[in-house]
Amino acid sequence: MKSYQLVDFGAPLRETDLPNPQPSGHEVVLAVRAVGVCHSDLHLWDGEYDLGAGKRLMLRDRGIKLPLTMGHETAGEIVAIGVDVKDRKVGEVCLVYPWIGCGHCRVCRIGLENLCMNPRCVGIHCDGGYSDHLVVAHSKYLLPLDGLDPVAAAPFACSGVTTYSALKKLGSIIDEEPVLLIGAGGLGLMCLTILKAMGGKGAVVVDISADRRAAALKAGALAAVDASAADAAEQVAAALGGPCWGAIDLVGSPATASLAFNALAKGGKMVMVGLFGGAAPWPLPLIPMKAASIEGSYTGSLAELKELLDLVRKGAVPGIPIARRPMSAATETLEDLRQGRIVGRVVMTP
Ligand SMILES: [Zn+2]
Ligand SMILES: [Zn+2]
Repeated sequence: MKSYQLVDFGAPLRETDLPNPQPSGHEVVLAVRAVGVCHSDLHLWDGEYDLGAGKRLMLRDRGIKLPLTMGHETAGEIVAIGVDVKDRKVGEVCLVYPWIGCGHCRVCRIGLENLCMNPRCVGIHCDGGYSDHLVVAHSKYLLPLDGLDPVAAAPFACSGVTTYSALKKLGSIIDEEPVLLIGAGGLGLMCLTILKAMGGKGAVVVDISADRRAAALKAGALAAVDASAADAAEQVAAALGGPCWGAIDLVGSPATASLAFNALAKGGKMVMVGLFGGAAPWPLPLIPMKAASIEGSYTGSLAELKELLDLVRKGAVPGIPIARRPMSAATETLEDLRQGRIVGRVVMTP
């Protein structure tokens, strides 16, 4: 089994060669067909998150152990199953639900394993898809692709379910009003296509990059506003054509969070997804005065990924731009992502 492993935070990934894994119990071994490179892999690579005000969250203090094979957007073909696996069989091509919890706590029992305090996420706490083989702890986390292209489907495991879950948190707002969407990177484009598939009214997108704004317009954004313009807030208000009832911040910096919060109408809601870093920029009295809801959204549940794949199978979700690269280009790809040189998504193949 050839893998590209994180052996030292910030250092180039190392190519390792280990014996192929054998599944036991409920485990399943997949031959990886496709693995998406996600922005959160950059944080993992760096080993830290910026919490603002000079504070940092160090991943080595949070149960992240090296060496680690990253990669949480993985699709592959089942090549071996454990003796207790009854629902999946060798040869099936599946998408891996990576946001696995302990299975016992309150959130796990109600199907929100993505919020578990003792997570076992694929590609974060256990080895993931930057490899030609992958072990998944239980067959229930495998969703058959039924003929869908694994390369196109891989990003649904993270950017797909993350944006789907964020959109669901806005409830009926998406059916009735255009929403404000901040960030037109891979997540933003994914969010636009899923919003369309859900029958939403559409979104006004904000981004600082002209290339990404153009990509957002191509993906169906109602308007694309330059976040660095002095009158960005006025342009957003004009493009929405009314109060902002729902906003999704896919960046998560103090600047984007203020832009979203300031745009909100009384009783409006913003969903925070991005992990760029920094401290909350809102004056506290404005939260009650606006009766604003600020909800964090972290990935999505297994049930949400199933719902999303059903939408995709119906053909309702057009693909986002995907660049294919060989897995040997993993380090270079992470560097390109850091430098903002990637529009859409990179999916690697062994
Ligand atoms: Zn991700
Ligand atoms: Zn749990």
